[in-house]
Amino acid sequence: MVKNSLTGSKKNNENINKNIGNMGSVGSNSRMNSMMPLKILNILSLALFFAFACNPAGTAYCASDAAGDTEEAALEYREAFLAKQDFAKASALIDDFLKSLVNKDKSYERFVTVEIGEDCVNNFYMIDRNIIKNYKRSITVNSYGEASCVYEGNGEIIKQEFILIKNEEGALKINSVSEKRYVTMDAGRRGCYLNTRAVYKAASLLPVLYENMQLPETVSFELLKKQKLLKEEVKCPQNANIFISIDKNSESQNYEVIARCALHGDFFELYKLDDKISADYEKYNQQIDKDEEAIMKRIGGPLYEAFLKIQPIEDAFYEQYERQNPAEMLKHLNRALVIDKRLGNMYITLIRAYRAANDEKSAREIYDMAIKVYPRWEDLKNVFDEKNISPDDGGDDEIED
Ligand SMILES: [Zn+2]
Repeated sequence: MVKNSLTGSKKNNENINKNIGNMGSVGSNSRMNSMMPLKILNILSLALFFAFACNPAGTAYCASDAAGDTEEAALEYREAFLAKQDFAKASALIDDFLKSLVNKDKSYERFVTVEIGEDCVNNFYMIDRNIIKNYKRSITVNSYGEASCVYEGNGEIIKQEFILIKNEEGALKINSVSEKRYVTMDAGRRGCYLNTRAVYKAASLLPVLYENMQLPETVSFELLKKQKLLKEEVKCPQNANIFISIDKNSESQNYEVIARCALHGDFFELYKLDDKISADYEKYNQQIDKDEEAIMKRIGGPLYEAFLKIQPIEDAFYEQYERQNPAEMLKHLNRALVIDKRLGNMYITLIRAYRAANDEKSAREIYDMAIKVYPRWEDLKNVFDEKNISPDDGGDDEIED
């Protein structure tokens, strides 16, 4: 998903940049984006890439990995096949399916086609057992086998869609389950996501702190405190456990750090909104940023604060990269160096800019500086093997102007 959006439409990229400012990702993407001007603090662009990637077509479904397939599937079954007198039976089937999920065994299998497997029922975006167990639900079905479930509880309203089919034996089965979408999200849940998003943001700075520009094998609150990225641990407002883990993105093969709540899951849920709200993403994101800023003020460590100061310098640096002006880039790099030497991709970007300008000597000088900070960074070691590319023909959307 992330991969698609990174190489995907420019419009998305622009939206994301506008929406989120420049709080985004660095090192963990180094392989896939080795040609991209990745910014030190820019991990949250990933979050939004993800959100946008999940969003444009509306709702992501469990049944197939590509939205296109889902649409096809939906069209395929768009023939009315359910008589009104069967609606109650169909609703009951979905209700029984949801009840069976609470057992956490395989009893759900008799309600579904093979399309719905363990990946689906263990995907938090699709199945939240806490909601299923504790919220009141009402299910409606139409003659096309399209069903909608509205969950209500804890001040929240959440929607989810299902598609039913009749199999060869004529039995009704659930053939797809959508992600849940929030019509209203309660303050406790939102507060939890804002907390975990803040942890994610701080943790995403980790790679630049290591000599190989990679995430360490495990990440914990202790490590984040030790690295002075956080001052204190964050808690779920409802006292559930928050844990930090490293996931391998199946598409990009990059390792990404993520903070999750045992009760509320990960903060991408913040973007799983019902259509009405998602229509005004910009305003919505601004509010998230504003609320998160207060949290960051409280929990952000001194190193996080320092990197925040680098951010505008970095923006100016990349602006000059787009203008292919390495001399100006160097000025900004030097300003940033006063704050911290661990500037990750800024080094490699400047090396590339000098090389594109056929100034190998200056490129070497930056390399010598960078290799002292990152003696075990493979991309840096290989930077002179790269074919000389200019920002103009780098072939990625972000700098394609
Ligand atoms: Zn929580």
